[in-house]
Amino acid sequence: MSLDPCDEYDALLRAARALVEWEEEVGGAGFPAVEAPPLPDVRVEPTVTPPAPVESAVPRREPATTAVRERPAPASAQREGAPSKAARLALLASEAAACTACDLHRERQKSVFSRGSIDAELMFVGEGPGQQEDLQGEPFVGPAGQLLDRMIAAMGYARDEVYICNVVKCRPPGNRAPSPAEAGACRDFLDGQIDAVRPRLIIALGRSAAERLALVPESGRWRGEFGEYRGITTLATFHPAYLLRSPEQKKVVWADLKRALQFLGKSPPTASR
Ligand code: SF4
Repeated sequence: MSLDPCDEYDALLRAARALVEWEEEVGGAGFPAVEAPPLPDVRVEPTVTPPAPVESAVPRREPATTAVRERPAPASAQREGAPSKAARLALLASEAAACTACDLHRERQKSVFSRGSIDAELMFVGEGPGQQEDLQGEPFVGPAGQLLDRMIAAMGYARDEVYICNVVKCRPPGNRAPSPAEAGACRDFLDGQIDAVRPRLIIALGRSAAERLALVPESGRWRGEFGEYRGITTLATFHPAYLLRSPEQKKVVWADLKRALQFLGKSPPTASR
């Protein structure tokens, strides 16, 4: 698909502006003075693990807890054939909107499923919706989302060129992190999204997301670590909400994002000053 030259110029201009803003936030011109560890020897074989069929999109359960209930068999489990990626995701989203498998559904205004391109090569997984997301039904639209947008633009992507979702689809009270039981109750929705989108790289934002994607070792560092989940390379970094409270950490996050770009065979856009 060829871009209109004017649109392409505008996109480059936005990316360059975002990079300048981001560089100013992380400490001036040039890239952060944080040593980026070498990329891991992760082999991605995108065609080896086939996408899960719709009928298995919501089949597995975490061990039962008092706050988690068995979800009835979804409508998708009774359908046959191989629906399109868009249809599978739309069905999952509608099932999440009606889901009562954990107590988080009690206070939700809207379930928050995803935003962005279902054909994205890069997926971000956050922890859970906040207040603005709960009201609008879209992930990362509050202050942390605006920071994530700048991070995405600084990487050279358009806002909706990547796919963004959360570990849980309903807002945890007080914007707390989802509990392991809640994350487990919601896992089939996240796994269904991953299996449908099949990005080249998933970036986990925050510890809860890193735990959900098996990126947190029993001991030792989790941020900046590469791993693999459902056959897809993963990378853990800090959540943008944490960066709002600890802006000095933006440098190390930018180092992580640069490693993500390196894995994807890309470079950040060059900002002309
Ligand atoms: S957070 Fe997930 S598992 Fe819990 S009610 Fe919402 S959609 Fe269902």
